[in-house]
This record gives sequence, structure tokens and C-alpha cells, in this order.
Amino acid sequence: MNNQPQSLYIHIPFCEAICDYCDFPKLQYFRIFAEKYLQKLKEEMDSYKISHPLKTIYIGGGTPTCLEDDLFEELLKIVDPYTKSVLEYTIEANPESLSVDKLKMMKAYGVNRLSIGVESTNDQILKAINRHHTFQDVKIAIKNAQKLGFNNINVDLILGLPNATKRQLEKDLDNLLSLPITHISCYSLSVHPHTTFYLKGIKEQSGDVERELYDYVESYLKEAGFIHYEISNWSKPGYESVHNFTYWKDETYYGVGLGAAGYVDGVRYTNTLSINEYLNGITCKEKENVSLEDDKEYFLMLNLRTNRGVILKEYQERFHEDFYKKNEETINRFVNDELMVFDKKEERIYLTYSGMMILDTILLELINGNGVTR
Ligand code: SF4
Repeated sequence: MNNQPQSLYIHIPFCEAICDYCDFPKLQYFRIFAEKYLQKLKEEMDSYKISHPLKTIYIGGGTPTCLEDDLFEELLKIVDPYTKSVLEYTIEANPESLSVDKLKMMKAYGVNRLSIGVESTNDQILKAINRHHTFQDVKIAIKNAQKLGFNNINVDLILGLPNATKRQLEKDLDNLLSLPITHISCYSLSVHPHTTFYLKGIKEQSGDVERELYDYVESYLKEAGFIHYEISNWSKPGYESVHNFTYWKDETYYGVGLGAAGYVDGVRYTNTLSINEYLNGITCKEKENVSLEDDKEYFLMLNLRTNRGVILKEYQERFHEDFYKKNEETINRFVNDELMVFDKKEERIYLTYSGMMILDTILLELINGNGVTR
């Protein structure tokens, strides 16, 4: 296995406003912090001495597009030396700050994929969760992006927001599919401690309601020609996220910036969440040397999230054991229960939609049950 990471994640933690449900590493945008942050980000990227070609770059947040134009261009310049042979270069954006000027800059610096935080297409719901855009902003931003030649556009949607009925979900999907998008990420609302939602006592949907909403999304998007290629992600054929597949194939990657995670030389690391520490040059906060057994668990957990599943030859090459032979009984049971498919020709196992919906249970059985991998 080639262990030199071919993917780079860059975290920009600033946001214009803080959404009521947000649990990501983020802070209110102040120019003075952003200027220093970009300097430190460059230092952290330089510290990896990356001289080999990268396959994917993903700038996420926070909201990268909340940087003022000159700082946004500075960010693009910092990243530019790493982009020469990149296949997929994504930037996350919020609709209200995805201006024509920023889109032009992205185009000039080789960005070829946008990921836009839409979350809902109902303006009242958006306002109630402290998002600062309307559906009209989404339409304008995507239309401008299309005019400038962006043809690979993801939108994020949250399922189960307060007052978002199933009828609203139907409208959201109708609205989104009227736009030239190629990818949708749907996440169920999670209420985390320390968020405004948590303090307001807002509850997550029950498992049954959550499943009903996912079932609806699955059938709607399938009908519209989208492929459900990962638990929370659907794309038009050929528009699967190459960068995110780095994570799901359990490959190595660099992660830079506040709170970013990376996986380099057999070590999984997470950067500090303290902006003061980061600006003072303290980057890494936690390191985990991945043991062989943990590596097997990560490999299964990540690969089984996707419709590609576990390629048995890859497992054999990486862990020097026959996964199918070791887990034959369990696999056959899952196959009989229509939770898993064993593709004999391609020598891979993957989960059906029903299997994906109970991934944790399946993993527990594979890791600890009859067919222990340890
Ligand atoms: S824009 Fe994104 S990162 Fe920023 S507060 Fe909202 S959800 Fe969190």
C-alpha cells in the first residue's frame, strides 16, 4: 500500500454567524484572527514538506467563503503549490457569501467542486436556526456557479430540523433537484451539548421518523437518477466525492487547521480546538498509533459505509488474511437477510440499503460476533 497521503483537508474555522445546531470547530469571523490564522495554516502545511503530487484537496469549515476577498485569495495562493496534479479540488461555501468574485477566483485557482450548505429550502426554518441565507440566495449562487463553468456541485441538507415536516422534505428535494446539482449530502439532525439547540431543549427525531425520512430521500433520489453511494451521500453517476472516498477507503490523508483530523504514517491525529493554541503554533492535540486490530476495524467500518464495500483482495493484501473465509457464516446470514450482497465476480461484499441503515449492528457482529476478525 502506498502510504504517502494523496489527499489534503484544510479547515477554515470562521463563520459570519453561528448556527443553532452547529458542533463543528468554528468561531466568529474577525479579520485580525483570520490574517494570523492563514499564516499559521501555511506554516502547518509547510511542516509536512509535501513534494509529491496530491489527488484531492478539500477546504472545509466553518465557512471558507466568509473570508474577505483579499484573504480568500491569500488562502487560494497558499494552497496553490499543492494543486498541480489534483483531480478534485473542493471548497465549502455558504450561499450568501458565494459571490461572483469568489467564484471567479476559485475558477482561476483550479477549484472544480463546490459544496454548498443549503440545509433547508424553507426561509422560515432557515431563519429559525440562525442561517443567514434564503432559498433565493441558493438559486442565485448555483446559477452563477453554473455560468462560470462549475459542473460538480454538492448541496448539504439536514433531515429532521424543528418544524420540518415530511411535506417540507418533499419540497426541499423538489427545489434542490430543479437546480443543476450533481450531489446531495443528507444528514439527520444531531443535537450536541453546548449548542443553542441543546440549551433550548430541542430533541432529535426518533429512530422511526429518521428512517422514514431517509427512506423517502432514498426513493426520491433513486427515481431522479442519483446513486446512493455512501450512507449520507447521493450523486449522479461519476460525481461521487473522490476526496471523501479517501476517508471511506481508509487511505491516509493530511489534515491541517483548527480541529482538523489527519492520518499519516500509521498515526491518526486531531489538531487542537483552541484558537489561541493554534495561533501560538501548537497544532496537534491527540495522536493515536493505530494497531493492526484497530486498523481492521477502521477499514471495515469505513468501507462498509459505501456501495463499493469491502474489496476482499484489498483486505487480504493489507491484513494478510482471508476476510470471507474467517467470517463466512456471518456474511452468509447477512446475505440471506438481504442486508449484505456478496459479489462473487468482483470478490467484494457490500451492504444493501437496509444493511446501511443498521451498519453499527452489522459491524459489531463482524468485529465481536461469530466471525471475529481479531
Ligand atoms: S456555517 Fe457551518 S460551520 Fe458555521 S456555524 Fe453554521 S453549520 Fe457551523
